[in-house]
Amino acid sequence: MIGAGAIGAGTAWTLARQGHPVVLVDPELAQTPERHPKTTLTGTSASLGILMSYVFRRSSGRGWRLRRRSMELWPQWADALHTPGTPLKLHSGLVQLAASDQEASLQRHLAEQRSALGLEFLPPDTLQDAHPDWPSCRYGGLRSAKDGRVDPLLLQQALRQQLQQLNVTLEATRVEQLQRGQGGWVLQLANGNQVAAKQVVVCSALASQALLAPLGHARPMEPVLGQVLQLQLANAEHLSSQWPAVLVSHGVNLVRHGADQLWLGATLEPGTDPDAAAAERLRSLEGDAPRWLGDCKDVGRWHGLRARPSGRPAPLLEVLEPGLILATGHYRNGVLLAPATAEWVSEQIDASGHQKRMLTDP
Ligand SMILES: Cc1cc2nc3c(=O)[nH]c(=O)nc-3n(C[C@H](O)[C@H](O)[C@H](O)COP(=O)(O)OP(=O)(O)OC[C@H]3O[C@@H](n4cnc5c(N)ncnc54)[C@H](O)[C@@H]3O)c2cc1C
Repeated sequence: MIGAGAIGAGTAWTLARQGHPVVLVDPELAQTPERHPKTTLTGTSASLGILMSYVFRRSSGRGWRLRRRSMELWPQWADALHTPGTPLKLHSGLVQLAASDQEASLQRHLAEQRSALGLEFLPPDTLQDAHPDWPSCRYGGLRSAKDGRVDPLLLQQALRQQLQQLNVTLEATRVEQLQRGQGGWVLQLANGNQVAAKQVVVCSALASQALLAPLGHARPMEPVLGQVLQLQLANAEHLSSQWPAVLVSHGVNLVRHGADQLWLGATLEPGTDPDAAAAERLRSLEGDAPRWLGDCKDVGRWHGLRARPSGRPAPLLEVLEPGLILATGHYRNGVLLAPATAEWVSEQIDASGHQKRMLTDP
């Protein structure tokens, strides 16, 4: 497995639990996942961990199927990964505020179609009671009982802990080259070692292109930078007890952090350099922010990169040739789609007839 973000580590965990011998390679394994404000983070560490599935507008196609399957699997993942040291939890409840009457009527229609999936339309007065002084509440909003979020840093810590318990080999270094070998694949590592494997799963986001190009597989991806702002409220009462796990206004996600902080994210900026003006636009919620949000103090920010496939829909889930599996390019939804992606990879490996090791083997 190349890459230990949500996709690579989640897939390695799934395969190891099924009895496959797994080697996971990523230089990030050398340090505990953290959010350094000055460096460009991996997608998973930068992510807010929002699981936005049932509010997705389309009701058919691969994107919808992957989202639904992931949401079926997430409760099992959270249960299995929850330990006293890594108290991973699904925080459920997502409210999307409508930005116009037209959007409110689309939301009302979706809520009618998906009431069995936990969607309901909240009329303006209900929202105004929960969030007074919030201008966007005037149109109403869509509530999803099952969408929500997980903590992506805790997710990575929990996965790593269990990977160690499952005796997965963790190589804290970079794969420099991927080559065809005799009956399989050879990974040349930056520490000088080699790993030979019958199956390779490439989950290294933007870096995947450079590993695949020499093998004749062109899978271009563009970086789309995201910034997240950490705000401290002057008056914590604005974060009422009715604040959902995620509140979405004008496409900006607002996540409560502790008693008196809000995280706002994330910008969508083509390229790799954060733009201060983009962060300011995020903070103003398209000029529709409640006044108290303007009074909040900036206490930090971070940024990271998403991998967006060029000319193909996200994500890239492909068996490129026997034993070479690509599972990357998840763009804005890699945390959400980690469980369904891991399941897809395991199905491809099973279909190839790859032998599992008995879990009792040394
Ligand atoms: C600001 C921001 C907010 C986001 N919010 C959300 C959200 O709320 N919900 C959601 O679902 N998604 C969100 N996303 C998107 C999500 O984070 C990504 O889709 C997801 O993290 C992709 O996971 P990944 O494992 O494919 O990639 P990454 O997490 O980027 O991991 C790729 C890994 O590959 C490793 N790697 C690279 N090159 C090599 C190499 N040569 N050898 C070995 N290893 C290598 C890297 O070190 C890295 O650890 C957000 C992204 C950003 C930037």
